[in-house]
Amino acid sequence: MERDVWGADGAGERFVARRKDAVNRLSAYFQEHCAKSIAWGNNIRDSFSDLRFTDANRVPFPFMRAMREKFNLCSVVTESKGPRLRDLDGNWSLDVSGSYGLNLAGFDHYKEWMEGGLERVKDLGAVLGSLHPIVAENISILKSISKLDEVSFHMSGTEAVMAAVRLARFNKRRKLIVCFSGAYHGWWDGVQPGLGSERNITDCLTLKDLHPASLDLILHRAHEIAGVLINPVQSFHPNSPPPSDTILLTSEIRKTEDSSSPYAQWLHKLREVCSANDIPLIFDEVFSGFRLAPGGAQEYFGVQADMVVYGKSVAGGMPIGVVCGKKDLMRRFDPEHPMRIAYVIGTFSAHPVVMGAMNEFLHWLSRPVTPELYTEAQRRCAQWVRSTNETLNQLDLPVRVMNFTTIWTVLFKEPGRYNWLLQYYLRAEGVILSWVGTGRCMSSLDFSVEDYQELQAKIVRAAQAMKSDGWWLNEEQQPGRERAMRTRLIWEMVKSVVQVPKPLTAFYFEIMQRKKDDHHASHSNLINQLFHLLSSSTFIFCYIFIFFNFTVAMFLGMAALFVRQFGHAILEPPCHDKEKALLGFNTRNKSIIVGGYILIPVVQMIQGYGLESFTSILPSVALLWFLLTLAAVFGRVLYLIWAHDFRTSMIWFVKLITDPITDIFAYYNSADKIFRLPPRRGSEATS
Ligand code: PMP
Repeated sequence: MERDVWGADGAGERFVARRKDAVNRLSAYFQEHCAKSIAWGNNIRDSFSDLRFTDANRVPFPFMRAMREKFNLCSVVTESKGPRLRDLDGNWSLDVSGSYGLNLAGFDHYKEWMEGGLERVKDLGAVLGSLHPIVAENISILKSISKLDEVSFHMSGTEAVMAAVRLARFNKRRKLIVCFSGAYHGWWDGVQPGLGSERNITDCLTLKDLHPASLDLILHRAHEIAGVLINPVQSFHPNSPPPSDTILLTSEIRKTEDSSSPYAQWLHKLREVCSANDIPLIFDEVFSGFRLAPGGAQEYFGVQADMVVYGKSVAGGMPIGVVCGKKDLMRRFDPEHPMRIAYVIGTFSAHPVVMGAMNEFLHWLSRPVTPELYTEAQRRCAQWVRSTNETLNQLDLPVRVMNFTTIWTVLFKEPGRYNWLLQYYLRAEGVILSWVGTGRCMSSLDFSVEDYQELQAKIVRAAQAMKSDGWWLNEEQQPGRERAMRTRLIWEMVKSVVQVPKPLTAFYFEIMQRKKDDHHASHSNLINQLFHLLSSSTFIFCYIFIFFNFTVAMFLGMAALFVRQFGHAILEPPCHDKEKALLGFNTRNKSIIVGGYILIPVVQMIQGYGLESFTSILPSVALLWFLLTLAAVFGRVLYLIWAHDFRTSMIWFVKLITDPITDIFAYYNSADKIFRLPPRRGSEATS
């Protein structure tokens, strides 16, 4: 079982053992240094479903159980200072989680704003329905940032997205909402057909981002579309950078009025198509608003939307969702049909404390010096990315970082089954990551050059430890790793959707193990492998051709069998000792069967047909060969039932008939290996 977990890329026993040690070492480290946090988590895990859902969701599902058993980590913190958090055990860590994106300015600012906000409204307290006068100023600043006519307040980003979508549908009297694959718009399943929603969603079209066909479709169905909803900073999932064109934006600090990047062009194109067809363009800036620039993605990309949704940082650390929109899209009553109402409202929508903290934040944002802070922070982040990648490259570590303003992600240069483990190594180094692990990390604006240097050192140390613990093997250390990983991955995916009964899985793995043993016992010679490739391809052809021309198929099959056995008998004779350990025929039995195959045509000729009528005996020879094959195969099946049991006999039988298929996957490049010339000495230096 442990082998399956720590050797899921097909790594050999030596590496699996090294990895097990590494996992135990890491686990012991956390048990010692985070004992209080772990105990706290263990106490509430069973009654806190959010924690149970999020504690291991950065771990791919095949490894979740093992990681939960070994780690059971959760982040319990009691204090913040600059970009650092202090946990229950007293450890200080660098926080790059961004607090789900809220922490733009630095924790210390939010402390001030939350306190200041409360101070401003404390005489009023929790009065809802009636409004504090501060609301008017907030609305006026939000209108000027969004360049839109009206504002409404909600309690979370998700709720604000729901409100925007509902208002767009109501005011356009159309049903469909367009969004783009890979985007997240909150947990509401109305715009998240993926993410585990089991409801049949018929009023949301999820199109491919950055694709001209999406524009064509919008054009085509314009009369049905109530709004095009887009998150201007898509992607940034683990190991997934923003759309490739956006990368152009990352290395340089962009001038905000420069809208010539390909991604900006895409947003402009969307804007054009929407305007030409009277479709509202809705920017979901819950994440990107105030992160890219003080004016959000609208300012950064130079595109004006018809509705904009904000959240996260905009209430200075308090929970919020905001919709800004054009007047005719924000109406909740139909002036011509008074009975038509879009009921969008919420108890806490303009809570005085939230409005107070928002006011503090909006004042900070509107200061003339604030844009400078953004420019400086983005420059520091870009410099850090360059220097970190240089160091990682020099140390030959397969990890890179990539940023987009102050959002950054970790990229892995090599495919691997354990890249996600880096988050645990980073955690041990004292880095707190977001819920998507090493994807979509964020540096707050208060990240200094020294903080970045510390972060770089931590990333490098974590990657070095991972490398020496054997999580990243090269082709030399583990031949055929990519194929092994792919096969395992496909199998795990199938198992995750199809309920394969356990005995069947065990049966499959035993067959595969026997194939592996067989390969090691008698298939290491490259020419033998090539013969197997030839004979296996012929067998597969004959499996089908036998229904069209029985005689020719049998003769072809027999030729293939002789080629195959020639390979074993001549090229790898020592294998026979090892073969004894397997279920197949031994050399003596094989010789008897081969003798039988040779005897059949000889006896047929002697029985009076003579050489002249050679062709006339072919069908009967083919039939007798076929019968002998059946007798040999089913005789062996019966023998194995008698000597072992039915299951064992079926393992041998299924292995036998599927060997031609697996041989092709195993030996398809044998010819290439035989004929590839070894590199000439010194050729690299001269070329
Ligand atoms: N839209 C986007 C683009 C987001 O990033 C998020 C939150 N990550 C939401 C909507 C949902 O916001 P909330 O979690 O406040 O409901």
